[in-house]
Amino acid sequence: MKLNIKNTFIEHLPADPNLENTRRQVEEAVYSFVNPKQTKAPKVIHTSLEMATCLNISEADTKSDFFKDIFTGNQIYPETKPFAMCYAGHQFGNWAGQLGDGRAINLFEVEHKNYNWKIQLKGAGETPYSRTADGLAVLRSSIREYLCAEAMFYLGVPTTRSLSLSLSGDTVLRDVLYNGNPEYEKGAIVARVAPSFIRFGNFEIFAARNDTKNLKILTDYTIKHHFPHLGTPSKETYLQFFKEVTTRTLDMIIAWQRVGFVHGVMNTDNMSILGLTIDYGPYGWLEGFDFGWTPNTTDRQNKRYRYGNQPNIGLWNLYQLANALYVLIEDVPALEAILKAYEVDFEQKSLQMMKSKLGLFSSDANDVKLLQDLEDNLQLAETDMTIFFRNLSNFSEARTGFNTIENAFYDLENMSDEIKMRWITWFESYETRLKKEHLSSEERKEKMDAVNPKYVLRNYMAQLAIDAAEKEDYSLIDTFYQLLKKPYNEQPEHQQWFAKRPEWARNKVGCSMLSCSS
Ligand code: AMP
Ligand code: MG
Repeated sequence: MKLNIKNTFIEHLPADPNLENTRRQVEEAVYSFVNPKQTKAPKVIHTSLEMATCLNISEADTKSDFFKDIFTGNQIYPETKPFAMCYAGHQFGNWAGQLGDGRAINLFEVEHKNYNWKIQLKGAGETPYSRTADGLAVLRSSIREYLCAEAMFYLGVPTTRSLSLSLSGDTVLRDVLYNGNPEYEKGAIVARVAPSFIRFGNFEIFAARNDTKNLKILTDYTIKHHFPHLGTPSKETYLQFFKEVTTRTLDMIIAWQRVGFVHGVMNTDNMSILGLTIDYGPYGWLEGFDFGWTPNTTDRQNKRYRYGNQPNIGLWNLYQLANALYVLIEDVPALEAILKAYEVDFEQKSLQMMKSKLGLFSSDANDVKLLQDLEDNLQLAETDMTIFFRNLSNFSEARTGFNTIENAFYDLENMSDEIKMRWITWFESYETRLKKEHLSSEERKEKMDAVNPKYVLRNYMAQLAIDAAEKEDYSLIDTFYQLLKKPYNEQPEHQQWFAKRPEWARNKVGCSMLSCSS
């Protein structure tokens, strides 16, 4: 395995001069050098060959001991210097000060086919930013991150990617239920990949410390390497940069809304400056369509990160980024105009996205109402989001409309006549509206099926893969990995995964609600 290594990040950005792996506040530096921990019995249990190919790593390479040692942190690739990044963040709406890569260690950059990829290990041991925790990750949360990042990529949602999933061979102590009964679990390491892991929090930390010099160095680096089309940094360029981050953030969140993904911890330290979905923790997939749902147990009280609030939180986070970049721009009205535009663009893009899910491409004065009525109906009785929208493409006439989507209801037997009537009324409006489109029903179905996935990583599916893996059966990980590479395709052999969540999974830990204890 010979990699085309680059070091643009560490060559251009200031390092912490302290080389000790001790927990501390780190100032005037973007990162600290730190080596991953040696592990007892590393074992690679899955690899994304597609991602490996992007890095010019062959299938044979992925089976080598060298690959295993590098991507579990047991060997340092020649002439590279691993490091952890320093960043801050707002957590659940409150300023949290310095956070940083507490359990992520950046290995190196690989350049291949004009792409520059950063590779990072998650769960490879403590760093100066580990605070009170151990720098490790458990198998269950690693499987969830590994599978979901790749699934999101194939859904067309901007995201970090996964390269490999490994067992460390060590055990990790975790209190899963936060009830004072910690247990030993299997430790794991995910190698994840992105063009950059820079977060909003990387900018916030310098702003909070009035370190304008390093804020400018970081911003200039980010523009030069990730937004090169914006040209030489200046006040105007910084504004354009901020504008582009707002657009990318919004597009990412609209994509989440389209597929029913709920991130669960949209703190500013978990917001990528490139608008990539990052840090898969207590995320979840909507089963019943519900704007009020959050997968994160820590968020159960306030539901700050609930499905319907994700676009607002994106904006709230962008306000924090605007505050951080302010000293470089010093133009409040211009920043406010960009933030205002996010709200306007959200309305427009959200409408367009929802219309595409319904197969509507022309404009009609009543479209907003049609969609509002639909969203209301979807929440009258528990209705599976994925099944509903996928089946809707089979709609032909109002009379049979209800039959088309019957399968999406969790408790059809006890559904009131009133709710059924409301659906029938909605289908009548939908049928009338479809007459204004110029597509044949086959063409409409094709377009709808390209935006309404048939297969997503349902919460209970990830849990089934986890339960099997705990017993050393890794086959379901591969089954889901292969299945989710073609989420929009009919895959008749996998029809069993196009199904509502089974009743046993309704309140099972891991299947409905998750904690941050990972
Ligand atoms: P999260 O909300 O999971 O993205 O994490 C918030 C902060 O806590 C980040 O700075 C993480 O690096 C840190 N963190 C989370 N889990 C651990 C852990 N097991 N060991 C060290 N740091 C952690
Ligand atoms: Mg994080």
